[in-house]
Amino acid sequence: MKINIAIDGPSAAGKSTIAKILAERLGYVHLDTGAMYRCCALKARRNGIDLDDEEALCAMLENTDIQLTPQGDVYLDNEKVNDEIRTDENSLAASRVSSLGGVRREMVKRQQKMAEDKGFIMDGRDIGTVVLPDAEVKIFMTASAHARAVRRYEQNIAKHLPTGSIEEIAKEIAERDERDTTRSESPLRKADDAIAIDTSNMTIEEVVNAVYERALPYVKEDED
Ligand code: C5P
Repeated sequence: MKINIAIDGPSAAGKSTIAKILAERLGYVHLDTGAMYRCCALKARRNGIDLDDEEALCAMLENTDIQLTPQGDVYLDNEKVNDEIRTDENSLAASRVSSLGGVRREMVKRQQKMAEDKGFIMDGRDIGTVVLPDAEVKIFMTASAHARAVRRYEQNIAKHLPTGSIEEIAKEIAERDERDTTRSESPLRKADDAIAIDTSNMTIEEVVNAVYERALPYVKEDED
């Protein structure tokens, strides 16, 4: 039996990195739901749509195709936008559009359809609480604000993305945290049955193993 794994937590806590490695190890598909909000924000910015105009954004989404491939590529209306969606400016814009109920409902609908069959590791903010409340394994991943800013900075450098300083990124992360946790629509919160993991002082391998251990009973069942 395959299961679904939900990984939630604040920005830059390492969710996608862990989900990607774990998906490879388990032979599961990783779905990065943040990429979908990022696509919505990118298209709105390109088309001069106000990031607070819920009606206009929802109308835009009616004619918007977003594809996440098992290889980790992101296609917005058939255009590969892997890097463009990850600029600091687009990160903030994604956080803004994601606070709107209409935008969230449309994304959640698409995400639930994607994960209809089991075998998915989905990461985001509301996966364990709203998108996949029945996920067999739920993780709530956190890390200190400083650790997250340093990680995002190093990631930007490694990917040759334009980057602000660590201080600037820390400010942007704090702004997104504030909006994500205080919005009225599906605020970021730990599901009651999620396991909390603070990754501040853990290596990637240690975090992967910690989550893998939780999935192991189900994987074992498969082998029996
Ligand atoms: O995960 P990532 O940082 O790429 O997500 C970008 C933005 O999209 C987040 O700041 C958050 O506001 C929003 N988001 C969300 N719900 C999700 C995934 C992302 O609100 N499931």
